[in-house]
This record gives sequence, structure tokens and C-alpha cells, in this order.
Amino acid sequence: MASEFDLIERYFAALTPLGEGIVQGPGDDCARVRVPPDTELAVSVDTLVESVHFPEKTDAADIGWKSLACGLSDLAAMAARPAWCTLALTVPAADEAWIARFAEGFGAIARTYAIALIGGDVTRGPLSVTVQVAGHVPVGRALVRSGARVGDGIYVSGAPGEAAAGLARLQGGNATADDPLVQRLNRPTPRVELGARLAGLASACIDVSDGLAADLGHILAASGVGAALELDALPASEALRAAAGGDEQLQHWILHGGDDYELCFCVPPEQEASLPRDESTVGSITRIGTIEADVGLRGIRAGAGRVTLAGSGYRHFDLSE
Ligand code: ADP
Ligand code: MG
Repeated sequence: MASEFDLIERYFAALTPLGEGIVQGPGDDCARVRVPPDTELAVSVDTLVESVHFPEKTDAADIGWKSLACGLSDLAAMAARPAWCTLALTVPAADEAWIARFAEGFGAIARTYAIALIGGDVTRGPLSVTVQVAGHVPVGRALVRSGARVGDGIYVSGAPGEAAAGLARLQGGNATADDPLVQRLNRPTPRVELGARLAGLASACIDVSDGLAADLGHILAASGVGAALELDALPASEALRAAAGGDEQLQHWILHGGDDYELCFCVPPEQEASLPRDESTVGSITRIGTIEADVGLRGIRAGAGRVTLAGSGYRHFDLSE
């Protein structure tokens, strides 16, 4: 039976290239890194727990991918370039086939986004994965949630709602692993390049992990402003429309589905023409609304005027209704 030292050596010690600024990677008591001059370190940590953050029986490679995608998405939302990560893995048994699959998915996304795995921990217990990420951002250039101002345009990347549609397919028991909507759930694309390019353009940014309305609500609360969303402008792919089967379900997935790891950001009018539009490097972006002085989140639909949307502090069930 492999010891944790064997597992670390076999699957993690040399999983990613170390790259510039990493003085020492896995193998000693600590890793050591340098931070370039005039650079801030943006740091975030997330834990994924089986049955809470991913369904039981999720492919270990998908768990590996997603556990790092969450952190990379946080870095993107701050306009930080990925630098290094650490991984604390708790597994019920030394199941080498599972760990090899996990390392495959984790290594694939780490190499795609050029982030170095520099250390970690392997322990036995109920399955859980904790990943810490660190990224570099020039001093004063980080995007925060609190900078949105009245008149700013509100944008979202990609097609939020697809991960929720993928989860619904899985739960309905009629999904194949290569279903594009299920792929959006299991293999999210952190918008790292877009985030870095928004530095100096966006006034506020957040990554969409809990649903577009709820996460935009965090920007509104932190900035002390409100917003009007143009409901007819919300982006929806053909696949999402087809899966929803109707407008109500479609809008619900787009506004309240979680796990998309898209970016929602605000842009002052004078910067909107400078936004990156090269879809092959930054993905698609869509203008979905405008920041207003009135706090709260409203929706505008052509012909129907304004409708109140539960925004900051969205609840699925409001007992006062
Ligand atoms: P310690 O007893 O000092 O905590 P460990 O036995 O946990 O050391 O880890 C030995 C070395 O292997 C350390 O450098 C640690 O960072 C690294 N390491 C442990 N687990 C992982 C992992 N999952 N991925 C990358 N490096 C790891
Ligand atoms: Mg340890």
C-alpha cells in the first residue's frame, strides 16, 4: 500500500513546471517564492466537499479541474495573473487510480493557466479538496467589488446559467459525460485573460459562483449603488434555450444558477469602447445593464417596464410573500 509520501512523489511533486519566481517547490518543509517588485500578491483559498460542491461519483479528473478553476476564477476577478497554488487533499483511502485521475485533471488546468503547484498536504478522511491560489497584480491595479459608479455599464462574460442547466441534466439522470452543459459544470473556464485585461478599464468586478443576481448584488452592496438589468439582453446559448424549454426557466438559470465562474463587471461609459472584444482570447462579453443610484436590483423588459428582482441577498423562498 502506498504511503502518503509515495503518493506525493508519484502524483504531485512534479505535476507542473515551477516557472519564474518559484525558488523552491514541493519536497521541503516550505516552498519559497519571490514576488516581483511593485507587485501585490492576491491570495484566495476554497474547499470543495463531496456531495456539497460536487455530486458523488463525479469523475476524479473533473474534481481536480474544478478545485483549481474556482481559485483561478477568484484571481481573474481581481485582475491577478496566476502564479502558484497549494493543494490539501483529504481522501478516504489510498486509491491510486482515483488519485491519478485527480492529478490528471488538476495538472491539465494548472498547465493551461500556467500556475505552479508548489506544495500541499495529503491526509486520510472524508473526501475534501482545499486549494489555495496566489496571483500577481501590479500595485494599485487590482479590481475590487466596491468601485461601481452611477452610469457604469454592467457586463457579464460567457453564458451564465449553463452550469445550472448541466446540473439539472445530471440530476434528471439523462446526461452523458460529453454533454456540453455538463462540461460547463464539470470543467468551467476561468476567465483569467479577460480579468487581467480589465485592469484599468473596469470599475468593479466579481466572479459569478453563486448566481449572477446574487454576485452582482455583492458589487452593488459594496459600492452603495443599485442596478437595472435589461432582461432581453441576457446572453443565452442555443443549448441553454433548448434545455430550458421556456423563458421562465431560462431566466431563472441565467440570473440564479451557480457554478459558472464567469466574470460580472462594471465599466465607466468612457472606457466601454476600449473593452477587449477578441473572443478567441477573452471569450464573449455582453452588456446587460446600467448602474443606478437607487439601491437594489431591477429588471427591464421591453413592453413590460420595470420588474423588481431579488438581487443582493437573493433568496429562493421569501416567507413574507
Ligand atoms: P510536512 O510533514 O512538513 O507537512 P508533508 O509530508 O505534508 O510535509 O509534505 C512533504 C512535502 O510534500 C512538502 O513540501 C509538501 O508541500 C509537499 N506536498 C504534500 N502534499 C502535496 C500535494 N498534494 N501537492 C504538492 N505538494 C505536496
Ligand atoms: Mg503535511
